[in-house]
Amino acid sequence: MTRTVRAVIALTGCATAAAVAFATPSRDVDRLVAALLGPTPLEDDLRALTDEIGGRPTGSPANARAVEWGLQRFRAAGVEASVEPFTMPALWLERSASARVGGDVAFEARVAAMPFSAATGPDGTTAPLLDGGAGSEEDFARLGRAAGGAFVLVETEELVDLAGLFREYAEATRIERRAVAAGAAGVVLTSSRPRNLLYRHNSTLAPALQRPMMVMEREAAQRAARLLRAGRKLTLTARLDLERGGPYEARNVVAQIRGTDAPEEVVLVGAHLDSWDLGTGALDNGCNAALVIDLARQISALGLRPRRTVRFVLWNGEEQGMYGSWGYVQRHAAELDRHVLAAAVDIGSGRINGFFTGGRPEIVPVVTRALAPVAGLGPFAEVDAPIVGTDNFDFMLEGVANLVANQESANYGPNYHARSDTFDKVDLRQLRLNAAVTAAVIWAFANADVTWSRQSAAEVKRLVDSTDLKAQMDSMGLLGLWENGIRPRRRGAGPSP
Ligand SMILES: [Zn+2]
Repeated sequence: MTRTVRAVIALTGCATAAAVAFATPSRDVDRLVAALLGPTPLEDDLRALTDEIGGRPTGSPANARAVEWGLQRFRAAGVEASVEPFTMPALWLERSASARVGGDVAFEARVAAMPFSAATGPDGTTAPLLDGGAGSEEDFARLGRAAGGAFVLVETEELVDLAGLFREYAEATRIERRAVAAGAAGVVLTSSRPRNLLYRHNSTLAPALQRPMMVMEREAAQRAARLLRAGRKLTLTARLDLERGGPYEARNVVAQIRGTDAPEEVVLVGAHLDSWDLGTGALDNGCNAALVIDLARQISALGLRPRRTVRFVLWNGEEQGMYGSWGYVQRHAAELDRHVLAAAVDIGSGRINGFFTGGRPEIVPVVTRALAPVAGLGPFAEVDAPIVGTDNFDFMLEGVANLVANQESANYGPNYHARSDTFDKVDLRQLRLNAAVTAAVIWAFANADVTWSRQSAAEVKRLVDSTDLKAQMDSMGLLGLWENGIRPRRRGAGPSP
């Protein structure tokens, strides 16, 4: 811990001009950390992005405004920035969603369409509502032919932590496959979060999904399940009004500060700018998009010059399948050998307690050393495991060393993709501390001696085969793309996956 950090942290509330004024750090990293802990427009940026622009799913007008906003924020900070197009495979936006339980007992039930769900007819679709238990193989076997043409109501465990969230993801994929095989009219997942909270959970057969799939508010879904188990006959009329279309162009925002000694080498730090739209995408991931902008801004304001180029990216298309970062690795394929690192921050505003180092033991000591100037914000511990689920993914499959900030889950899970993901949920003090931690790591990688290089396709395949990467990819609907050599595209003469 540097004196600067200790001084600033000692003052609760953290960000004050006075705290920075009495510190006189000399090393670049200490100056950068001090600046990020001082008064910066970080909070104003987050407020503008969430309250003014709001939820911004890729393909929406709000998303286009967010891209323009991000571009202007970098430029206002004196940082070179541009937009880079990539192709999204399909347009999917919800205009409105509603549902009503009918039959022996009638009541309104609020729903949200799952991403890439099929629409219903304009007047809605009415079908029997059946108790699908937990949506297991046995549950579908018990329903048998009755599932054909019916809405299958699936109960879920209440979400308590991030592990539960990943279980929910994995299970939703399997439920979806069983429902399609059974010929169900659609799937109604019980919201895993109480108090009528709705969220838009990723749907994994996307965009090939041909059935309406929705999340129903927990209390209404549980009421329906109890009625069904008491022998009542119910129907569901669901109306999902969706905007759907074919491939279209979306844009990442790419900014950079050129390196002095090795400008052709790139250290990349990114956070996704897009969000889902029930809430305003504050924890996921507006807060970290604002963090990345502030990092670029403070490096620029201090006139710091890294040895290699630092590239700051606001990814787009992340929520719908990490398409922006996939587009980037394709567009920059010729440059990837000179990408020293790609880092992602995407788990809300809980404390950064270390980094996932992606199954690359050679970079662990570099991260550990990088964190020394901010040791007072620790403890930190690196987890050398490959992680699927955010914008490090395509870099990892391309063999580029990658980091994902590992964060205390804090309030991330309960608000994940939900109506409640709004500005007030962000821990602004911790976000600022996280900016300092991220800065220390990025600055170190931008200046460190590099002892690693991009992995070959064979090395990447070994990583996939020796870890749980396949299972992770499968739960995200990404395994087929890997197995078919589509994502990533096969490189040179290396052995194909
Ligand atoms: Zn995210």
